[in-house]
Amino acid sequence: MFSMDPGPTAYRGDGQVIAAGLSPNTVYLAIKTKISAKGTTLDFEWNEQQNAFYEKVVAFARTELSDDVVQRDSQQVFNRDLWRKCADFGLLGLSIPEAYGGSEKEVMTILRAMEGLGYGCPDNGLTFAINAHIWTSQLPIFQFGSEAQRQKYLPAMCRGELIGADAFTEPEAGSDVFSLQTHAKKVDGGYLLNGRKSYITFGPVADVVVLFANTAPEKGKWGITAFLIEKDFPGFTRTPLRDKMGMRTVPMGDLILEDCFVPEENRLGREGAGISISQSALEWERCFILASQLGAMQRQLDGAVQYARERRQFNQPIGKFQSVSNRIADMKVRLETARLMLYKVGWLKSQNRSAMMEAAILKLFLSEAFVESSLDAIRINGGRGYVSEFGVERQLRDAMGGVIYGGTSDIQRNIISRLLGL
Ligand SMILES: Cc1cc2nc3c(=O)[nH]c(=O)nc-3n(C[C@H](O)[C@H](O)[C@H](O)COP(=O)(O)OP(=O)(O)OC[C@H]3O[C@@H](n4cnc5c(N)ncnc54)[C@H](O)[C@@H]3O)c2cc1C
Repeated sequence: MFSMDPGPTAYRGDGQVIAAGLSPNTVYLAIKTKISAKGTTLDFEWNEQQNAFYEKVVAFARTELSDDVVQRDSQQVFNRDLWRKCADFGLLGLSIPEAYGGSEKEVMTILRAMEGLGYGCPDNGLTFAINAHIWTSQLPIFQFGSEAQRQKYLPAMCRGELIGADAFTEPEAGSDVFSLQTHAKKVDGGYLLNGRKSYITFGPVADVVVLFANTAPEKGKWGITAFLIEKDFPGFTRTPLRDKMGMRTVPMGDLILEDCFVPEENRLGREGAGISISQSALEWERCFILASQLGAMQRQLDGAVQYARERRQFNQPIGKFQSVSNRIADMKVRLETARLMLYKVGWLKSQNRSAMMEAAILKLFLSEAFVESSLDAIRINGGRGYVSEFGVERQLRDAMGGVIYGGTSDIQRNIISRLLGL
C-alpha cells in the first residue's frame, strides 16, 4: 500500500513545529528567511563582501597561479615567485592583524577565500603550503608568541620573505605524536635541542620552524614545549626528501637537531604549553586546509561535467551513459556533504567555539571524499585520466596526503569514538 508523503515539517530550534506538510522548497525558503532559534539564526547566504572577495581570489588564482603546474609537479619544483605573488595579494596575512603586517579578515571570509584559492589554483601543493604556513606557524606565533616574537617574525612572514613550518612528527612518533623524543635541555641563556623531525612540509626551505621538544620527559606529554627555530641556528640541519607521491610542488624534508642552541627568547609560550599550542593549530589547520580542498573538489567536478558533455562515444556524449553520470552524481553528493560540514566547522570557529568533534568528522569525510572523487574523475576521463599532462591523475596523488597529514583517517575515527565516550 502506498501513502502520500505529507512533505517535511519545519521545526523551530526548541523543537516546536512551525508548519507541517511543506514542499522541500518552502522549507528551504523558511530556513533561508532565518527561523530564529534561541538567539541564533541558520543562514546559508554569503554576504556581498564575502562573495566579492571570493571572486577576487578565484580570479587571482586563475590568472597568477595557474602556470606550468604539470611541469613543476613532474620536476618537484617549488616556485618562490608564486609565493611572493600570494603575499603581495594579501593571502599570507589573512589571519594576522595590520599591526603585525597582516590584512586580517573575519573567519568565514578567510574560509571562503581559501575555498576560492583551491578552486582557482590547480596547484594543490601550493594551496596546501599556504595553509600550513598560515595556520601551523604564523597563527601559533600570533596567538602564543611574545610581543617581540610577533614583531620579529610576523610582518616578514606576511610579506612572503620568511617561510614558516611546523615540526611535530618524528621517526618513532607519528600518530602517537605526544611520545616524541626530541629533548630540550635547559642551559644558561636557553636550551640545547637534540632529535629528529620527519616529513616536515617546507622543511628544506623554511626560515622559521615551530618545533616541539620535551623539556621535562618525566612529565610525559605535559613536558612538551614549543620553540621557534631559525634556519641558521648552529646544530640545525635538514635533509630534503627526494621523491614523493603528491604535493610535489612543495618541498618536504627531515630536520636534525644536534646540540642546537635555542635562546630563551625563542621558546614559544611557557614550558609545557606545547600540547595546547599544537592542538589549537591543528584544529585551525584542519578547517582551512580542507577549505582549499573543497575548492579543488569543485574544480574537479566542473572538469568532469565538462568532459562528460564533450567526449562522445557510441554517437552520444559519455555523460548520457548512466555509469558515467552516476559517478558524477556521487562526486556532487560528496562535495555538497563536505561543504555543509566545512561551513559548520568554520561557523563554530568564528563563534570561538570548540570544534573538536566536528573538525575530526570533517577531516575524515572530506579527505576521504577527495580521494574517492579523484578515482571517479580518472575513470570518467578514461585513458586521458591516466596521463599526467591532463592533470587529472595528479588530483589523486595530491588527495592521498590529506588522509595522512594532520592525523590519519584512523586517528580521526579514534577521536570521534573517544568523544562519543567509547
Ligand atoms: C603530505 C604530508 C605532509 C606532512 N607535513 C607534516 C608537517 O608539516 N609537520 C609534521 O610534524 N608532520 C607532517 N606530516 C607527517 C604526518 O603528520 C604523519 O605522517 C602522520 O601523523 C602519520 O604518522 P606516521 O607517518 O608515522 O604513521 P604511523 O603513525 O606509523 O601510522 C601507520 C598506520 O597505522 C595506523 N595507526 C597508527 N596508530 C593508530 C591507532 N592508534 N589506531 C588506529 N590506527 C593507527 C595509521 O592510521 C596508519 O595507517 C606530513 C605527512 C604528509 C603525508
